Amino acid sequence: MKPEDFPDEIRPFIIPEHKGNLVYRCLGCGREYGIEKLLYTCTDCNKVLLLHDLNFDLLKRIPGEKWKRIFDYRRMTKIPALKGIYLYHEFIGPVIPLSSVIYLGEGNTPLIEANSFLQEKAGLRFFFKNDGQNPSASFKDRGMASALSYINFLVKEKLVSDVLAICASTGDTSASAALYASYLQPHIKSAVILPHKKVTPQQLSQPLGSGAAVFEIPGVFDDCMKVVESLSEKYNVALLNSKNAWRILGQESYSYEIAQDFEYDMNNKAIFIPIGNAGNITAVLNGFIKFYETGIIDVLPKIIGVQSEHANPVFNYYSEPDAKKRKFVPVDVKPSVAQAAMIGNPVSMPRVIHLVDTYNRLAGKEIVFFVEVKEQSIMDWQITANRNGHIACTHGGECLAGLAVAVTSGLVSSKETAVLDSTAHALKFSGFQEMYFENTFPAGYEVLPDKSLINFPVLIHPEDLDKVPVPGKPLAENDLNIFVKRVSDEIAGLLDLKKR
Ligand SMILES: *Cc1c(COP(=O)(O)O)cnc(C)c1O
Ligand SMILES: [Zn+2]
Repeated sequence: MKPEDFPDEIRPFIIPEHKGNLVYRCLGCGREYGIEKLLYTCTDCNKVLLLHDLNFDLLKRIPGEKWKRIFDYRRMTKIPALKGIYLYHEFIGPVIPLSSVIYLGEGNTPLIEANSFLQEKAGLRFFFKNDGQNPSASFKDRGMASALSYINFLVKEKLVSDVLAICASTGDTSASAALYASYLQPHIKSAVILPHKKVTPQQLSQPLGSGAAVFEIPGVFDDCMKVVESLSEKYNVALLNSKNAWRILGQESYSYEIAQDFEYDMNNKAIFIPIGNAGNITAVLNGFIKFYETGIIDVLPKIIGVQSEHANPVFNYYSEPDAKKRKFVPVDVKPSVAQAAMIGNPVSMPRVIHLVDTYNRLAGKEIVFFVEVKEQSIMDWQITANRNGHIACTHGGECLAGLAVAVTSGLVSSKETAVLDSTAHALKFSGFQEMYFENTFPAGYEVLPDKSLINFPVLIHPEDLDKVPVPGKPLAENDLNIFVKRVSDEIAGLLDLKKR
């Protein structure tokens, strides 16, 4: 829709006007820092930071009802910078000029309702939000669009130059970082550090294809993170892990989209998030809090964080019911099909603790919960979902497995509606599906196939047929007719087709 065609009361708001005053705020000591420099931890107490808009209260001057109309109308614009996460510019990056925004098609991902078979099996109405339909096929693009738009802004303002963006990754962060950095060639180059043999071939191909410098090191993600932290302390590099608070800001768009997709009615909604480094759940909590504080939603949805038994430090922490006795203990991870969440010492844990407190306090009761699931259950549910019209990755399967646990344990009721985060595209993790079908999971995963879900291609090659087509050597007409007849008869036999 063209600007002149918007209603008079909305037109002035289509192009975001609000000028934010963003600062990094330390979650430990409360100290604030300006954003003209890249900063990841408090220089006083070394704790992680969150970005805070000192002008946030100005947003409350616009009534919630009006914000809803602004966002709904803004969806109709054709301005690229407002089509992705910056549809919510005032809440996500109100210091970044639209001319610095990088839009590669991220955000605005589809919310897909499960069919009646799956809803009956799960015991309630639910949707997958397909964040695998982002450009690099995971939700990480939301955060990278934010982090790289900000770096692009710094470059344009000549506050930085020749940036080397660097990250540790379980696969998807590096795919996303490399993609967004490659768009900003030659001003920004990227390097990614991966745990050797712990990312899928598809995920490895992504940063290679984007032209990043790719380093594989022994160990798991937590070891890569240590190396990246050491590099960012000693050298002039831009850290793109979720320690970078700009990532969190961009990922808040996930909550805003859910609110908008349900016409801002968050009553009886439960949002399921898989947890690895805990950046995503941080963003989701913060996003809903901001929409709640500005009256855009009038209740906070329930949030359920899901972890695998093989990488469950956040679940462990909250399994102690007495908040005063809770103590965070990192775990040594075991092999997990939710490979992008195989993290034993989540960087964002202090953010989670802080925001879960705030969230429950605002809600007036406990509405953030954590569940753990078995590897077996993750695979069984992922494959079941995908046999029913979805494209869920293993983490999407993890959310569905978490939904099953939440229903059994009474954390959600059949009256609620659940939204499950399928954080990546199924194709990134097709190797796990293959191991399931071939029953070749190494013992450490503790996964065996359910026979009824196994699926194999069937090779049709009738034995008495010695002439078959070969690329570049088609069959002569008579031989081709024989070939087609024999092969189609055999397929018809296997499928038990009836003659017409
Ligand atoms: C990164 C990632 C996660 C975990 O998100 P955190 O922010 O690290 O908790 C889950 N699923 C996928 C597909 C991911 O790429
Ligand atoms: Zn501090």
